[in-house]
Amino acid sequence: MSSCLRESSNGRGTPIHRVLLVDDQYLVAEKIRLMFKNKPDFLFHYCDDPRDALEVAEKYQPTIILVDLVMPHVDGMSLLRFFRSSESTKSIPIIVLSLKDDPKVKSTAFSAGANDYIVKIPNEVELLARVRSHSKNYMIQAERDEALRKIVAMQSELESSNSELQKISLQDPLTGIANRRLFDDFSSREWSQCARRRGLFSIILLDIDYFKRFNDNYGHRAGDDCLVQVAQTLKKEYYRPGDLLARYGGEEFVFVLSDTDLEGALNVAERVREAVESLLIPHEFSKVTGHVTISCGVASTHASSSGITLERLIEGADEALYQAKAAGRNCVRAHEFL
Ligand code: GH3
Ligand code: MG
Ligand code: MG
Repeated sequence: MSSCLRESSNGRGTPIHRVLLVDDQYLVAEKIRLMFKNKPDFLFHYCDDPRDALEVAEKYQPTIILVDLVMPHVDGMSLLRFFRSSESTKSIPIIVLSLKDDPKVKSTAFSAGANDYIVKIPNEVELLARVRSHSKNYMIQAERDEALRKIVAMQSELESSNSELQKISLQDPLTGIANRRLFDDFSSREWSQCARRRGLFSIILLDIDYFKRFNDNYGHRAGDDCLVQVAQTLKKEYYRPGDLLARYGGEEFVFVLSDTDLEGALNVAERVREAVESLLIPHEFSKVTGHVTISCGVASTHASSSGITLERLIEGADEALYQAKAAGRNCVRAHEFL
């Protein structure tokens, strides 16, 4: 299809019709060949053996096929069916050329897949007009199919780059975990769903202790590496589908835990605190220990559309985090709603 389109113009804007004639009778074929001779908008190709016709058509890629009906080895009707069942020729228009002027034969030919039927020997003007008309329609359709194929391919490319973009826009580039934007979307969606079930909802805010001193002394690159290591460790500590871990800000992270009560959230926070401490990332400038540690603030409430809001819950976790810092860091504190 594509190569016939590539050669579909003779350079002056006139389409070139690629004609394939399949006929065992050389004399008849010669007469028809002469009709196409010296016509700049035709390329004529002849095949005298119907057994080769399909292969020749696949190679030559005609825009119109003329087929004799009575031939040795393979009769014209069977050849029509072959053309119609082959992927590369199934939509190429076919004109049957026959000596028989019989309505029943014509009807069978159309049923077998012919697009037109002309009694031999045809009048030159009529034959050329019919060939041009069928071939032109075929080329227009082929161009449309090609354009549609390109549009579909572009659409699917666009969709995959869009979904890639969306993924990137919700990811923190340094640590690869969810970013603040995803946290905002996820937490409010999860909060509403949890409210419908009247479930418990918990937030853990956590922050690396004396991280400014870490950066100032070991450099920003080492600080980044530390953030990546901490994020990887936090990632291992939550498993449920309703949970989310996100980077909340510089060296602050947040866990969203739906259907989790205060006791459950405190357990997660304590596990996470221990896991980070066990990494034993050296931090000789920390006033807590010789290693990197974190402080955690936890808050928990029944999700509901009245009473405590999600914003208030996050504030509660932040207040608890402040208390953990004030209590000496490397510890977990909970906020109690009165
Ligand atoms: P505290 O124990 O009270 O939390 O003290 P702190 O020094 O950790 O807190 P502070 O808020 O004073 O400093 C946070 C530092 O975190 C400031 C900045 O140097 C560092 N930081 C924030 N984001 C990044 C980052 O993306 N990469 C690196 N390397 N450092 C960051
Ligand atoms: Mg800090
Ligand atoms: Mg901080």
